[in-house]
Amino acid sequence: MDFTGQVGIVTGGTRGIGKAIAEGLAQKGVNLVVAGRNLDAAQEVAASLSAMGVTAKGMKLDVSNTGEVEKAFGEIRKEFNRIDILINNAGITKDGLLMRMKEEAWDAVIDTNLKGVFLCSREAIKDMSRQRYGRIVNISSVAAFMGNPGQANYSASKAGIIGFTRTVAREYASRGITVNAVAPGFIETAMTDVLPENIKEEMKRLIPLGKFGTGNDIANAAIFLASPESGYITGQVIHVNGGMYM
Ligand code: NAD
Repeated sequence: MDFTGQVGIVTGGTRGIGKAIAEGLAQKGVNLVVAGRNLDAAQEVAASLSAMGVTAKGMKLDVSNTGEVEKAFGEIRKEFNRIDILINNAGITKDGLLMRMKEEAWDAVIDTNLKGVFLCSREAIKDMSRQRYGRIVNISSVAAFMGNPGQANYSASKAGIIGFTRTVAREYASRGITVNAVAPGFIETAMTDVLPENIKEEMKRLIPLGKFGTGNDIANAAIFLASPESGYITGQVIHVNGGMYM
């Protein structure tokens, strides 16, 4: 895969899956912006990527905040001159059964997971259209396809990402821009660490490959979709879940 001279942005790139994707792209020589809610954490990851020989910048960015997104992309545009890859990875959970789900929990999850994808893509697509080249990779979830009790807000946000992916893929295909999604299954990160052991064991029994995935398992699929070599693939979802959903 040849990423020479490319610039990528990973939202929520400070830990977990996003960090694994940022590291994988840096290994391939992509210059990177690591965007997260916590500036110190973003700068720390960026410093470790710079040590790998690429240009990397950590930025404070809450993807659900329109003003912050527009400001951040303006700065990126000025500093890096182009945007080739956008990885919409930032995501949160606020679980609860429907009857008890607070409106704030619904809004917070939709705002970060779905509106955030809209806001960041709307900015990046301007640069990608001008360049007549771009790769947008959205991180969805197996929960969008199977449902998951307690995650009405989360699974709705992640299913929304799929409709968004297909529509934007159709809108910008003629500009050389591809838009795809990766739907992770159960991946070992801070997001899943909080689940009780008995739930984790139950989940593991549903996975034909018999183990949870790692950030690198998701990064491998995301990096392929972010590469020039995936250019004839658009509007698709790659499921990375150990066979849990097929
Ligand atoms: P994580 O909690 O370790 O990382 C999420 C990252 O997103 C963090 O860096 C966090 O700071 C950032 N973030 C959250 N809200 C943000 C906001 N408003 N603006 C900017 N950044 C924000 O979780 P993870 O497991 O690495 O998850 C990464 C993505 O993968 C998420 O979209 C998640 O929904 C998805 N996913 C994870 C799993 C899993 O099993 N871990 C499964 C399916 C999908």
